[in-house]
Amino acid sequence: MFMGSTTWRPTLAREGSVSQSVYLFSELDAVEQAVSGWDGARELLGGKGANLADMTRLGIPVPPGFTVTTEACNAYLAAGNQLPSDLWPEIEHCLTTIEASTGRVFGDADTPLLLSCRSGARFSMPGMMDTVLNIGLNTEITEALASRTSPSFAYDLYRRLLHMFGSVVLGMPDEPFEEAMASARSDAGVASEAQLPSSSWIALVETYRSIIREHAGREVPDDPREQLREAVEAVFRSWNGRRAIDYRNAAGLDHSLGTAVNVQTMVFGNLGEESATGVCMSRSSTTGEPGLEGDYLEQAQGEDVVAGTRLTEPIEVLSERMPSIYAELSEIAQRLETHHRNMQDIEFTVENETLWILQTRDGKRTAEAEVRIAVDMVEEGLIDRETALLRVSPTQVEVFLHPRLDPSADAGPALATGIAVAPGAAVGQAAFDADRAEEMARDGNTVVLVRPDTKPDDVHGMLAARGIVTSRGGRTSHAALVARQFGRPAVVGASDLDIDPGGRMMRAGDQTIEEGDWLSIDGSTGRIWGGRLETVTPDLENPWLAKLLGWADETRRLGVRANADYPNDAELARRNGAEGIGLCRTEHMFFETDRLPLVRSMIMAADDTELEAALAELLPLQRADFEGLFRAMDGLPVIIRLIDPPLHEFLPDHDELVGDLADLKVHIQHHQSLAEIDETLEQIRIKQRLLDREETLHEENPMLGTRGVRLGMVLPGLVRMQARAIFEAACTCVADGVDVRPEVMIPLVSHVAELRTVRVTVADEAQQVMEQRGVDVDYLFGTMIEIPRAALTAGEIAGVAEFFSFGTNDLTQTTFGISRDDAEQGFLVQYLRDGILSTNPFETIDPDGVGELMAIATERGRATRPGLEVGICGEHGGDPASIALCERLGLDYVSCSPLRIPVARLAAAQAVLRS
Ligand code: PEP
Ligand code: MG
Repeated sequence: MFMGSTTWRPTLAREGSVSQSVYLFSELDAVEQAVSGWDGARELLGGKGANLADMTRLGIPVPPGFTVTTEACNAYLAAGNQLPSDLWPEIEHCLTTIEASTGRVFGDADTPLLLSCRSGARFSMPGMMDTVLNIGLNTEITEALASRTSPSFAYDLYRRLLHMFGSVVLGMPDEPFEEAMASARSDAGVASEAQLPSSSWIALVETYRSIIREHAGREVPDDPREQLREAVEAVFRSWNGRRAIDYRNAAGLDHSLGTAVNVQTMVFGNLGEESATGVCMSRSSTTGEPGLEGDYLEQAQGEDVVAGTRLTEPIEVLSERMPSIYAELSEIAQRLETHHRNMQDIEFTVENETLWILQTRDGKRTAEAEVRIAVDMVEEGLIDRETALLRVSPTQVEVFLHPRLDPSADAGPALATGIAVAPGAAVGQAAFDADRAEEMARDGNTVVLVRPDTKPDDVHGMLAARGIVTSRGGRTSHAALVARQFGRPAVVGASDLDIDPGGRMMRAGDQTIEEGDWLSIDGSTGRIWGGRLETVTPDLENPWLAKLLGWADETRRLGVRANADYPNDAELARRNGAEGIGLCRTEHMFFETDRLPLVRSMIMAADDTELEAALAELLPLQRADFEGLFRAMDGLPVIIRLIDPPLHEFLPDHDELVGDLADLKVHIQHHQSLAEIDETLEQIRIKQRLLDREETLHEENPMLGTRGVRLGMVLPGLVRMQARAIFEAACTCVADGVDVRPEVMIPLVSHVAELRTVRVTVADEAQQVMEQRGVDVDYLFGTMIEIPRAALTAGEIAGVAEFFSFGTNDLTQTTFGISRDDAEQGFLVQYLRDGILSTNPFETIDPDGVGELMAIATERGRATRPGLEVGICGEHGGDPASIALCERLGLDYVSCSPLRIPVARLAAAQAVLRS
């Protein structure tokens, strides 16, 4: 055999002096001593070099080699591309050691030592990894090797050396080599290189040589030492290549680090029957289950496994074909895992029944595997709970909570990509308006609602749909908010979709989707496909996730509550670990189909009697809602916020009314019977009244208009009705033995006097109800802090409010003075692109502005009322970075949508561990 029968393994470190510029892989102890520890070693040897040395020290069989340091690289570059004078003697010394341990000789034709030369910086720099393989071959050595092995094996190695030397050292393009290979194949009439006859290989090598002469005006040296020297210099120079500089600029890496060069003995997995090469994970990367997982190929080189040109065998086959190698590999995988305290992705080669490990790194894995591995490793004593909690990202937890597209299915190109606002996958038939969505769902279809944007009127269709797509709007658009609230996967702002609700269709490029056509959306990536993609069901009961979240609960300080409006949301939230309701947006109940007419008659009331009558009809409905919430949250706090949005949101759209009226007026001219005319006239009267009211209520800036507490100031009857519903529900529940803890919350307060006024109304109504029922209910009265003035005057406000909850959606809008819906459509996109803002403030709390106001409000509020309960209920309450801010500010809890509760539990624990 070409490599001889010696089984060479790493040697011990050289005795005596430790070189400054070059270290054998077996000299890590000396390196660590010289540079004080592992971090210094990584800096000096680069990531790859340090890992190879680390494996060697562990006694793992790594093909022997050495690393030329990053300092040597810097010295070379500083001297105007001159090798330091002590460098080559050190390399020679290392070569001698490797020759002794391998029983091979660099440049010898009978027992040739072949080397690879690779760059390896402190940080991984993909795309910059210049590599030259098979250094040490020339015509004479190749011929000798061919006669001992096979021409295709030997000449293939040599032509690879020529090609790589040409491109890495001589800076040549790849194309001429690839073209020459293609014509060799076609001349010989074969499809793959493996089938080339020996004559073709010999001719091909000659062609490569002439290509190099032609392009570079020189030869690849025959002297192996000269090849090695030039390769090392080329890797050094590549540090300052265009590609590397651009990469470092983009990744924010320091240009002064330099790259190390790793020179290593080549091993071959294509050398005869008992040779193989493969990749394995120390545990399953899909499920996290213990045991090796991977693929390998017999008689192959590493790239054959990666390229997918040959069908690989599962690693289990190796246990039958080469049982002792499999056992050794399993033992090594375990040792590497114990050493790195993480699942490893290992590259190996078997050359003539000898196993070599080429690389190990932390393996990529699914969210499911991440969670299981973290928990298993704690139980195996490999890591502690803190490490496990920090290792799993909140996003990975989120994956468990939603159906997702089958990762193994081929999705093909997406129709469009928008903003991913509510995670999970939805597959359904397109419906272009809410009513149609509801109808289609009622007929048993699964539906994806597609709209340019959504309005409160569309909620019934959104609830009926499995998923939601809009072409406009951002992360806090109505569609996004409702979708997250109700756990519907959603993609908004997919501006490449040209949606035509009137025509019941949309266009995306040259494709047309009509109503009823299938759509698949991924609310985690923002992508939308035509057609039906396969989904996989989530695993909410996953025992490893439950255990991890249990540890998170023991670690976190922040409470976690849910934004939930309905009993079934509250139940889901509680199952997911919510410790109460942080926000019930009561107006959502008003938008339901059966209640909207009642809300409209309240708005249309001509006098107090009509108003009272409308409110009286709404009362039992609200009371039933609250009762359900209290029961679902037995023993836990429930914050009910009184109505917030401006009233005209409950009326039909202005333009729609104008259009309807115009139609009716045309229509009436074609009627025959008096009865028909009467009926149309009545409809005109109703629509006209709605339009008049719409116009009266119209505001130029409704977001800054009659909403929130202001609505309660002008319509105290509404506040009374809501307070009565809350306390009647509470009394009924108390009578039934339910432990109710209501907290009544007032939105959009800017002045303490507003709060004082509303407080009197609420307290009065509460008192009346309790007296009528003969039941006492403990409750808190508090306010949202969502206007800068409220934050700044929090000291006064806390004199009236018994709790604060930051409405960071509005607080962000009012602090920046921007409307979220408009901004996310327009200039905010440009701001984020140009780096004016580094993150979207509607996604992650702006720490310097909004966060500062929160700090001031918390401090001033608690100065007035020590122990004041302070929480957050804006969308940021489910965002891990914002949760970390809330931890720093000492808030009591965060509140987010029911589906994000597990995410918030983990993020809150991580915030403690990182603080
Ligand atoms: C807020 O402003 O953060 C909030 C929770 O209220 P809404 O989103 O309902 O305005
Ligand atoms: Mg608000």
